[in-house]
Amino acid sequence: LLGNIEFPDEVETVLRNGGDGVGLYRTEFLFLTSNEPPDEEAQYQSYRRTIELLDGRPCTIRTLDLGADKMTQSMLQEPERNPFLGLRSIRYSLQNQPMFKTQLRAILRASAHGPVKTMFPLVSNLMELRQGKLMIADLGEELADEGIAFDPQMPVGVMIEVPSAALMARTFAAESAFFSIGTNDLVQYTLAVDRGNERVAHLYQAAHPAVVYLAKTVVRAARSTGIDCSLCGEMAGEPVFCMLLLGMGLRTLSMVPDQIPVVKRVIRSVTMEHCERLARRVGSFDSERQVETALRDELRKLDPDVFGHWVAE
Ligand code: PEP
Ligand code: MG
Repeated sequence: LLGNIEFPDEVETVLRNGGDGVGLYRTEFLFLTSNEPPDEEAQYQSYRRTIELLDGRPCTIRTLDLGADKMTQSMLQEPERNPFLGLRSIRYSLQNQPMFKTQLRAILRASAHGPVKTMFPLVSNLMELRQGKLMIADLGEELADEGIAFDPQMPVGVMIEVPSAALMARTFAAESAFFSIGTNDLVQYTLAVDRGNERVAHLYQAAHPAVVYLAKTVVRAARSTGIDCSLCGEMAGEPVFCMLLLGMGLRTLSMVPDQIPVVKRVIRSVTMEHCERLARRVGSFDSERQVETALRDELRKLDPDVFGHWVAE
């Protein structure tokens, strides 16, 4: 179980809650707290501090996820009609190469200090992955020429957050070191429901059979290719989904640090056979209502005193 963080100091909360490392380091916050993008040194120092605080535990750094719900001042000056389908995340980074290169150099330099992986957000086609990897390879050569230390084997993975990437998971797996399923966005794009719009919040359902099906497709593709697959959306920290995720084959979940203890408690109360049986049963359901009811019932049965309030409607 790993923690999702935004700032280096949050490592302490992850460790205090029993996390084994950081599965999602959201890096855009350094960019949102000032009008000027941070330079390479500022980013390097921030990543390095996180890695040092982790003291040998793994750290997965996500490259910039700017746009849509995470706008800088300059982005706000050129509003888009449909920002969630617009220039965000890896798309924005690839169109702002000097800024992206600065970040990738900072990440590479930080990788000299501990086990670092990097992943790209919102990848929707193979060219984005290839372009990003090529940039990392070029920057690695640059650093080597300059005699600056970095990990030349740093694993580069993909966040699966868009249905096109989930459906093409086998193809992506062949060129990725690992997957991390970002269900916050995957739910939004699969169901065509704005994750921040209260008027359609009732339609935003992680338990929707289409979401479950896509997540399963991704886990299977990763397993058959032999790459790691984790899940780092909010779903990972919701006890009600825990047995389903284990039953699907997930073995690494990254979540809000405060949720680690309760998820750990669920895991210690179940057997894998039980979870697999539940996942098979849930896979045959055709409505989110059915999925959710089954998951709630199973969690309640484990220990009504402990998990009762997590399943209250
Ligand atoms: C996700 O989309 O599931 C995710 C983890 O990324 P974010 O919430 O930062 O978009
Ligand atoms: Mg996301």
